[in-house]
Amino acid sequence: MLDMRKENCIFCKIMEGEIPSSTIYEDGDFKVILDINPAAKGHAIILPKEHYENIYELPEELAGKAMVLAKKLAAHMTEKLECDGFNLIQNNGEIAGQTVFHFHLHLIPRYQDGNNKDLLTWNVLQYQEGETDKLAELLKID
Ligand code: 5GP
Ligand code: ZN
Repeated sequence: MLDMRKENCIFCKIMEGEIPSSTIYEDGDFKVILDINPAAKGHAIILPKEHYENIYELPEELAGKAMVLAKKLAAHMTEKLECDGFNLIQNNGEIAGQTVFHFHLHLIPRYQDGNNKDLLTWNVLQYQEGETDKLAELLKID
């Protein structure tokens, strides 16, 4: 029995074959499809077969497997597409740019002559004196 989120989730529908997709890889845990609105030629997304909304919900084991798969696909896609670089992007929450609330990892080939040179540029902040020490203290983790 599907829960509400799953019923309204585009990626769950893709997983169930209700919405067509161009699949480049599939195993027991993941499906990797071409993004319908690519930032660059070959832009793909790794989707866990189970519905997890974001990185916070994703089980550690699947997070590890997703990164191993991303590494494998980055090498494979770079060879096949002959791209010049590669971005892994993963958005969590609306403010972070997430539009589909089913965890996914973007695989974005980058081309020297591509049309999205500033895909990942941001305005930088300035820290006040002592602020980095306080932040590092706050964020320390064993
Ligand atoms: P987000 O903005 O949540 O990180 O990324 C969602 C991505 O899913 C977007 O890049 C968007 O183009 C892609 N997307 C949304 N709907 C569909 C769909 O029906 N099929 C495919 N293949 N990609 C989709
Ligand atoms: Zn889903």
